[in-house]
Amino acid sequence: MSEASIQPALREVRRALLDADVNVDVADTLIEGVRARSLGQEVLEGVTAEQQFVKAMYDELLDMMGGDSSVPMSDGPSNVPVATLASGTAADPAVILLAGLQGAGKTTAAGKLALFLKEQRKVLLVAADIYRPAAIKQLQVLGESIGVEVFTKGTDVDPVEIVNAGIQKARDEGYDTVIVDTAGRQVIDTDLMDELQRMKRAASPQETLLIVDAMTGQEAASLTAAFDSAIGLTGAILTKMDGDSRGGAAVSVRGVSGKPIKFVGTGEKTADLEPFYPDRMASRILGMGDVVSLVEKAASEVSDADALKMQQKMLDASFDFDDFVKQSELVTKMGSVAGIAKLMPGMANQLNMNQIREVEARLKKSKSMISSMTKKERANPELLIKDSSARSRLIRITKGSGCGLDEGQQFMSEFQRMKTMMSTRRFWRFWLMIQSLAL
Ligand code: GDP
Ligand code: MG
Repeated sequence: MSEASIQPALREVRRALLDADVNVDVADTLIEGVRARSLGQEVLEGVTAEQQFVKAMYDELLDMMGGDSSVPMSDGPSNVPVATLASGTAADPAVILLAGLQGAGKTTAAGKLALFLKEQRKVLLVAADIYRPAAIKQLQVLGESIGVEVFTKGTDVDPVEIVNAGIQKARDEGYDTVIVDTAGRQVIDTDLMDELQRMKRAASPQETLLIVDAMTGQEAASLTAAFDSAIGLTGAILTKMDGDSRGGAAVSVRGVSGKPIKFVGTGEKTADLEPFYPDRMASRILGMGDVVSLVEKAASEVSDADALKMQQKMLDASFDFDDFVKQSELVTKMGSVAGIAKLMPGMANQLNMNQIREVEARLKKSKSMISSMTKKERANPELLIKDSSARSRLIRITKGSGCGLDEGQQFMSEFQRMKTMMSTRRFWRFWLMIQSLAL
């Protein structure tokens, strides 16, 4: 992949990100990272450099939006991350503070979260938006519709006091989760931030979530920066993803704050809340799903081609240390030597657990010796076996890998035996079997 061959794709990807409303600076930083890593890489057979660049960009987006321990992998079939929220106990309830601009969807999100958590937790909603009487009513109506209690002290009380009283009520009555709905303003102003900071200090919430309207567009970056520096976010909820937005705000939020998007709102009803799936979002933002799957297919075909080359080498008995490493990686891929032995008819009876452990330990040592070899030595095992310099080379290698010379010599004779076996039909069948199990 060269500067020239990826240039058109680079432009196309940039346009896609900006069309999806990813912040310009965030988009450029992302693209620069992928560009730098792609240059000089070999292009897979069957695809163009441009297509491969698009796939690399997709991977980067996925990595960026999903690579966080607070968004663990689900065990579902697609193995995509799902959101988690800090949990509390009745004695020490978890407080979830929702913040954001007016109209972003805070009150709606409070109801949605309450419904989402209701099955596993005892949830109390706290109405701390005192500036619009209608806001309290809105939360009460929502709470009633989902059967969740709403705590309010009207509009004449300081929101901090409301939050404190709400948490006290939760402790007294055994609620383990408190969701605080707060006021928003049209634009970020210091009064709003002051009030949020005071609430945050009083409540020390486990989660401080920014509610971002997906239609916010480019502004999502400065919005996130302002809220994160003022009150310290733990994550975000992206609302109104049922609209036209391609979700670029998700990238901006993550890019600016490093905090995960935990949920997305997908409609006006309380049930319209989904965990955040980075892979879906990456496809939606980049909008080049066909290219991504094309390159994925090409990549899997390349590993098939690698396997074929390997088979040919085995047949030719031109087996070197690089091949040894590749083959033992196959073992790692399958789990363990013990795992393979169990799968091989007859093998489990021939090898006991101690022998298996021995094999695994020797494999590990062999690999560290091989990593101390030069490229030339790895491709030419004779240099370490028959050559006049063999002994001094082996001394250097075993020293470099922290092994004894005797262990080095043992590995060399094992390796020679292996190499001979490779050329016989008997081993060939054995190898085919391992391979068919591995692929
Ligand atoms: P707040 O001012 O931040 O509390 O915002 P609200 O919760 O009152 O929501 C403002 C408007 O956005 C309301 O009309 C909601 O019905 C609507 N809304 C909130 N979330 C979503 C969503 O995920 N999808 C759609 N389509 N509308 C939403
Ligand atoms: Mg509201």
